[in-house]
Amino acid sequence: MSASIIDGKAIAARVREEVTHEVKKLVEQNGRPPGLATVLVGEDPASAVYVGGKQRACTEVGMVPFDRRLPAESTFEQVAEELQSLNADAAVSGVLLQLPLPGHLDGAALTAMIDPAKDVDGLTPVNAGLLALGLTGLRPCTPSGVMKLLASVEARLEGAEAVVIGRSNLFGKPMAQLLLMENATVTICHSRTRDLSAVCARADVLIAAVGRPRLVTREFVKPGAVVIDVGMNRLTPEQAHNKSGLVGDVDFEAVSEVASAITPVPGGVGPMTIAYLLVNTLDAARRQVGVQ
Ligand code: NAP
Repeated sequence: MSASIIDGKAIAARVREEVTHEVKKLVEQNGRPPGLATVLVGEDPASAVYVGGKQRACTEVGMVPFDRRLPAESTFEQVAEELQSLNADAAVSGVLLQLPLPGHLDGAALTAMIDPAKDVDGLTPVNAGLLALGLTGLRPCTPSGVMKLLASVEARLEGAEAVVIGRSNLFGKPMAQLLLMENATVTICHSRTRDLSAVCARADVLIAAVGRPRLVTREFVKPGAVVIDVGMNRLTPEQAHNKSGLVGDVDFEAVSEVASAITPVPGGVGPMTIAYLLVNTLDAARRQVGVQ
């Protein structure tokens, strides 16, 4: 078997086009575009690149970016004050605190200060709780993007065995909840899981979010399974053999021979995350002005 490649770049581009269209409609109805605020503390180069990408994407779909940068030595109170001022600003529909924060700051406590109605990363305890209860709320972007990728290949979730490797609050847990809401039978694996490959080999849908290059080999994959690779691992130039230095958690070549569909890295899950950040910002803006 040779798996079909799920083109996350193309699917994300379509999502962004839809958002652009809906933003125009909202401006016509309401007179004001949605605003997305990013808060970056410190000068971590990777975080600065991520924030830059989010700001650009925001402008491209007609939203207004608010780029807040604080020095690395900022105190908890200073970051909290910034978040509170964005919570109170009616022009700001969504607020995103770029993680990780410098070591002296409590990222979870600061994230929890974001107004749940503006929590476009879906990481506050309120939105995590709403998801756990199956109630309407803002969902974390990457798992939402993965659901869209699964829908694009018409993956059957009802009654299917779905295995998620990774149990982070950012991805693994919300991913499992979304799959459960679609009536999949969900297993979450982590670093203490016994016989990981045997558990994974039961999966009709296998989702890897670990951060270990090529952890998922052919033996992990049931023939015909849909495989989603969330991992983003940067290799050294020597390891990468002159190819793109970015690899996922899945041994793409070997697994492509047994899976029915698979996401590449790069160009699979990655582009969906920013696309769903824009979807969430639009959604938050609509709810704030009472337009559904
Ligand atoms: P994380 O918080 O580090 O979580 C990693 C998870 O993997 C943990 O639950 C850990 O188990 C588990 N794990 C570690 N080693 C394992 C092993 N040998 N066998 C089985 N499970 C193992 O990471 P994350 O934030 O969820 O991200 C995971 C990966 O996805 C990273 O590569 C990240 O860059 C990528 N990611 C990509 C996007 C995107 O937009 N494409 C978005 C989010 C994340 P324990 O809980 O037991 O430690």
